[in-house]
Amino acid sequence: MNKGTLIIGGGVIGLAIGWKLLLRGEPVTLLEKGDTGREASWAAAGMLAPVGEVHFQEDQNLRLGMESMRRYPAFVEALESDAGMKVDYRREGGLSVSLHPDDTAELRHRFEYQQALELPVRWLRGGEAQEMEPALSPNVVAAVYSPDDHQVDNRKLVEALKAAFLKAGGALHEQTPVERLVLHENGAPSVLAGNREWRHQRLLLTAGSWSGMIPGLDGALRPWVRPVKGQILAIQAGPETLRHNIRTPDVYIVPRLDGRLIVGATVEEMGFDRTLTVGGIFELVRGAWRAIPAVYEMPLAETWCGFRPGSRDNAPIIGETEIPAFFIATGHYRNGILNTPVTAEVMSEIMLGGQPPEFLAPFSPLRFTE
Ligand SMILES: Cc1cc2nc3c(=O)[nH]c(=O)nc-3n(C[C@H](O)[C@H](O)[C@H](O)COP(=O)(O)OP(=O)(O)OC[C@H]3O[C@@H](n4cnc5c(N)ncnc54)[C@H](O)[C@@H]3O)c2cc1C
Repeated sequence: MNKGTLIIGGGVIGLAIGWKLLLRGEPVTLLEKGDTGREASWAAAGMLAPVGEVHFQEDQNLRLGMESMRRYPAFVEALESDAGMKVDYRREGGLSVSLHPDDTAELRHRFEYQQALELPVRWLRGGEAQEMEPALSPNVVAAVYSPDDHQVDNRKLVEALKAAFLKAGGALHEQTPVERLVLHENGAPSVLAGNREWRHQRLLLTAGSWSGMIPGLDGALRPWVRPVKGQILAIQAGPETLRHNIRTPDVYIVPRLDGRLIVGATVEEMGFDRTLTVGGIFELVRGAWRAIPAVYEMPLAETWCGFRPGSRDNAPIIGETEIPAFFIATGHYRNGILNTPVTAEVMSEIMLGGQPPEFLAPFSPLRFTE
């Protein structure tokens, strides 16, 4: 038995928990089936928008998201300092816009809900929204400004997490898919990967959409996670085209510091199908053009897709399992970049014997087995 923790899966979640564990003095080994950070964590838009994305009846998710937002500035500061690189964390805020009178009623309805939850939001008339973002379509009817919705360049975030993980002494094995978990009467499960068995004091599963596919965990022990496909694209605009995240009923648009506008994303239940479709890309381009007409003349820079890890109730699965010394952090669905700091900080504490905070209770892996 080796000392420390073995982690399966090197997306933002596995890397961030690994980095935080290392900072607490825990030896960490991470096994990644391909290159680290190239799945959902690479594909995302990087919006950190618990307020703008608030959904009715999802108060627990909102609480988790707000908890993560509170931790984001310090998390980024420590990461940038450890990794020696920037992750382009931007705090200009978000605008949810309606481009048609029919959409305005829905926007108003959500605004009243946000107000009832005492979230920081401000109602803007179309003209006021255009003053804030001159590139917005003259058709904008109204908007809700949420100053606390931020963004981060998620590709830089995974690169920085990898650098910080390695600098803190983490052992990283890429191109090493875990083929099976082996349960033992005492202690954490071991795993089979790269023609050998790895057995450590603690095991953490952070394999994103693949978390339920590794043989060895059967029945109720298996985390039920499915891939939810998202097609997404980037438009090469000028650096000053937009400053805020823009959300319309059809798309969201996230402006990067290098001038790229990230336009996302489809939500499709298609299994692990990586096809980019004309229809999917068309809907995104049309949605972006309706909000920001000037994109019509701009170069299309990139198109790609990724798989959001969605659990049975679409809420994350974070915490200790029924199996001794075996932990899970997956199912972050549409908010994994947002929920990285809270997941990493809380999990690294729990894994080394700390008590889970009360706000984590709804996300326990045990909710599917009890
Ligand atoms: C199009 C799109 C847009 C999104 N936009 C946002 C957004 O704006 N804001 C936000 O907060 N979230 C967003 N998300 C969601 C976010 O990307 C995810 O919730 C988050 O990246 C999940 O991180 P992860 O580390 O759990 O998964 P992943 O990044 O998928 O990492 C899992 C890793 O495990 C590895 N792995 C799998 N199986 C094995 C195995 N058997 N052995 C070893 N390694 C294995 C994989 O190769 C992968 O590297 C978006 C997602 C998509 C697809």
